[in-house]
Amino acid sequence: MTTNDFSSARHTPRPDLESSPAATVSAGPGPGPLPAELGPGPEPSPADLGPGPGPSPTDLLRRLRARGAGDPVTHVERVPARAGVPAPWPSWAPPELRAAFAQRGVVAPWQHQAEAANLAYEGEHVVVATGTASGKSLAYQLPALATLLADPRATVLYLAPTKALAADQLRAVAALELEGVRPACYDGDTPRAEREWIRRHSRFVLTNPDMLHHGILPGHAQWSGFLRRLAYVVIDECHTYRGVFGSHVAHVLRRLRRQCARFGATPVFVLASATSGDPATAAGRLTGLPVTAVTEDASPRGGVTFALWEPPLLPPDSGSSTPVPPQATGDHDDLQQVRRSALRETADLLADTVAEGVRTLAFVRSRKGAEVVAANARRALDDAVPGLGDRVAAYRGGYLREERRELERALLHGDLLGLASTNALELGVDLVGLDAVLICGYPGTRASLWQQAGRAGRSGQEALAVLVARDDPLDTYLVHHPEAIFGAPVEATVLDPANPYVLAPQLACAAVEAPLTPADLALFGDGAKEAVDELVAAGALRQRPTGWYWRHRERPEVDLRGEGGAPVCVVESSTGRLLGTVDGGSSHFLLHPGAVYLHQGVSYVVDDLDLADGCALVHAEEPDWSTHARDVTDVSVVSVRSYVDAGPVGMFLGEVDVTSQVVSYQRRRIATGEVIDTRPLDLPTRELRTVAVWFTLSPQSLAAAGVQSADVPGALHAAEHAAIGLLPLMATCDRWDIGGLSTAVHPDTEAPTVFVYDGHPGGAGFAERAYRTASAWLRATRDAIAECGCEIGCPSCVQSPKCGNGNNPLSKPDAIRVLDVVLANLPE
Ligand SMILES: [Zn+2]
Ligand SMILES: [Zn+2]
Repeated sequence: MTTNDFSSARHTPRPDLESSPAATVSAGPGPGPLPAELGPGPEPSPADLGPGPGPSPTDLLRRLRARGAGDPVTHVERVPARAGVPAPWPSWAPPELRAAFAQRGVVAPWQHQAEAANLAYEGEHVVVATGTASGKSLAYQLPALATLLADPRATVLYLAPTKALAADQLRAVAALELEGVRPACYDGDTPRAEREWIRRHSRFVLTNPDMLHHGILPGHAQWSGFLRRLAYVVIDECHTYRGVFGSHVAHVLRRLRRQCARFGATPVFVLASATSGDPATAAGRLTGLPVTAVTEDASPRGGVTFALWEPPLLPPDSGSSTPVPPQATGDHDDLQQVRRSALRETADLLADTVAEGVRTLAFVRSRKGAEVVAANARRALDDAVPGLGDRVAAYRGGYLREERRELERALLHGDLLGLASTNALELGVDLVGLDAVLICGYPGTRASLWQQAGRAGRSGQEALAVLVARDDPLDTYLVHHPEAIFGAPVEATVLDPANPYVLAPQLACAAVEAPLTPADLALFGDGAKEAVDELVAAGALRQRPTGWYWRHRERPEVDLRGEGGAPVCVVESSTGRLLGTVDGGSSHFLLHPGAVYLHQGVSYVVDDLDLADGCALVHAEEPDWSTHARDVTDVSVVSVRSYVDAGPVGMFLGEVDVTSQVVSYQRRRIATGEVIDTRPLDLPTRELRTVAVWFTLSPQSLAAAGVQSADVPGALHAAEHAAIGLLPLMATCDRWDIGGLSTAVHPDTEAPTVFVYDGHPGGAGFAERAYRTASAWLRATRDAIAECGCEIGCPSCVQSPKCGNGNNPLSKPDAIRVLDVVLANLPE
């Protein structure tokens, strides 16, 4: 019996082609950077921030816990307040620069800012990986601007993942009013008329990787003056360059280095990252250079009491969760809800904190979910005190800037006490100083978690943060393993520049910019020679004594965010408006007829997917259900890259071919997760050559561990689901980036096998990271299953919302036995 689970990548907004969610949030001249961004300076007076103190976080938490039967809190971490550690200005920082910063409230840099700035000024490539609002920008502004002031010809290139962030940075640099720097944004919105002026006169150009790839590098001749004098390349939010996109960006940066070298420039790279595991290695992979990491955060922060909250299991016959009996859908593919939903729990917590007079921000992953939380909280409050519900609102994407400001003001001043929001608030909006933050479901990365928790706390006052676990194995693991949240980070930003599907097109782009030489092959790294040979064989490159030349008149079409295959356009039928694009590999999952498609928080329903034209027609509609596509999959092994022979257990990394077909989709109620129905689809099969990690066990070892042969499929399948769910602990992916398949006997391995593969052509580094961290990854998987309080398996441990087999068969106790066998044999 073979079971499979696929998943698709979500589409990423393109800064150059459409306005990104972040751009919507912070369009227009926004607030200045957060206070800590500017180093030590005047603190906002607490009197500005509305009503007086409510209950202390400890008292508040005690009252919240006392509410129901049993204690949902699995851990309370007291994150103490920290005083900042200032450092003297570096001696090389000119007085006018210090004065300009002082004007903006920066009296002196924090220790980590000074350390990173000093390293960069001495010519070392450096990555600053510290917390949200810890002032990472000063770390690169200081050496970059000092150099621009000292050398009137030098230039700086700043890269941000979104136009909104680049615009924020432009405001910050422009506000310093430094003579002769002439900072300017150069992106898809820059009017043609201004572009030439910027190329010729700006010495601090802010752009994004897409513009570097599509505009600046192909036009290097026009940029030669700028590149020749390039002293620093700043890469902000570099942890966002992960997976296939990150692998593309890695090569765009190598192309940049190559052009600089042709003009005689060797710029210093300064990167800023969220805190992550091993930022130096990730930054080194991204740039191809040795990078030193600065990770000791010396900025001040307020104290936070952080509680981990696991919604209680419901009694099996509970009517409130409205589980659908199997016969209602004709098969066993409903996800029985055995825990109280995180949305309901969050709504109750929000109502309770508001009733206590506590200003609370609840983060919910979808806009519809945010509305459900706000509506339920309002209802509960109105039941208690008519009218009190008016003090709770939902914050949705797509508001005008004035409307957002009004909501923020109302919340900060206490007119509004509770706000349920999507994560859209994360970037670029100055809403801090709340008394409590509720986080409904782990937001996917530690960086996002701390960004959200960081909204709590104002100077001199303690605040409360609560992470409410969703019914997901990773959430289950985290609420039982606080060290994964509060200890040293293990989650690493992964990318794979050696992905042949990325490398070959990037080498083609490089060859157009200048013929490739043997020395260039070393720059582009592993696999470059093979990729060049293939491009020659395909007739794209011609080898001459002076190098490899691009043979065509047109430039290659390479999309940094593409996944191979032409992207599918999403068009609103009534207006003909292009909402965005989805890469071909994800289109069957996200844009099948009937799919609910979210764009910038607004919901659309797909009427038609025309694969021949690469176009999906949609209309705006907000149904109260979500859709979940399902597929059937086959995996065959192409080659083995690396393996560990551990007696009865084998662990492998290699290439596989995945054949999959999306065959149906489920509709589920957003508020309850209840399955409404399953509808068939008629879509063609797709082929994916990618990278997988897989492990095999001997049938004898399974029998010895007490797994009956009839239970082997359910054991492997359950282990596979949980393993996919836990991989985001090791690598910044989410479970939608990866797929899996388990089988009691696979034709290529001739043994019981579990495969976990990257859902991207050529791989994205996730499976490789899983292989490198296999014992830690599977140990966490085992613990997440064992620590779930359910009896036979539930969505918090071994059930998967994306299962292609309707979560059947699954055996929770046998999954633990399987993983115990693997862990007992696998070397650490
Ligand atoms: Zn469970
Ligand atoms: Zn499955």
